[in-house]
Amino acid sequence: MPKPGTIHLVGAGPGDADLLTLRAARLIENASLIVHDGLVDRSILQLAHPDARLISVAKKRARHTLPQEDINALLIHEARAGRDVVRLKGGDPFVFGRGGEEMEDAHAAGIRVEVTPGISAANGAAAAAQIALTHRDCASIVSFVAGQCKGLAEQNWAGLAGTGRTLIIYMGVKTAPQIAEKLMADGLAPDMPIAVIENAARPEMRVLRGPLAVLPELVERERIVSPALIVIGEVTARKTPAMVQLAMEAAQ
Ligand code: SAH
Repeated sequence: MPKPGTIHLVGAGPGDADLLTLRAARLIENASLIVHDGLVDRSILQLAHPDARLISVAKKRARHTLPQEDINALLIHEARAGRDVVRLKGGDPFVFGRGGEEMEDAHAAGIRVEVTPGISAANGAAAAAQIALTHRDCASIVSFVAGQCKGLAEQNWAGLAGTGRTLIIYMGVKTAPQIAEKLMADGLAPDMPIAVIENAARPEMRVLRGPLAVLPELVERERIVSPALIVIGEVTARKTPAMVQLAMEAAQ
């Protein structure tokens, strides 16, 4: 039996390769086997050695190419065969990335795991759209929530959004109408500012802003597609250079 390899859970950040950590870049460049999901940008996969084996386990909502258990089993199988595996995930492996399950199954199988953090979509989007998530004048609490259908109605979000708080919703494009309804039913004002950031930290990024009440309309009219984040809170209404520029043009 060969000595088992190590499974590296590696965060690939939100998009461009220049948002990788140095450690992630080094692991990718030296890997002989990379198991990656769909959110990992091609510019990042291009850093891999030409002889490296790249396995995509891309997931599309409700159409999984590989169920999570099979991904876990694949990682363990490869490590048991003595190979080091780079398991490359969009953003950070432990923010809605199912890295926890992969790590626990590997531990249970006696495989060594190392984790390399990545810039999560919330941080990447905030930087790219110049939204200061905890601007001192308007927010001292930030929450990350998952907005996909499963269990949405049962989740208690009361108190996560409102004055002094920033709420960031991952995987919420499809459920934007239910999200807006849920937040307003919890007492959030319909004119609470929101932003939708599509393809953050990528060349095709779009940033849309408006009041909470128009969120569903905005998503539909602008045909927002995944990956996109919804940010709720006063921090989204502060003036960014683009907004200042538009206001100056309007005044001329
Ligand atoms: N582990 C990832 C999140 C995986 S869940 C992370 O830490 O970022 C997938 C969700 O992340 C998407 O539905 C979307 O809401 C968000 N997301 C990932 N990359 C994004 C990007 N470049 N721009 C906007 N949202 C993104």
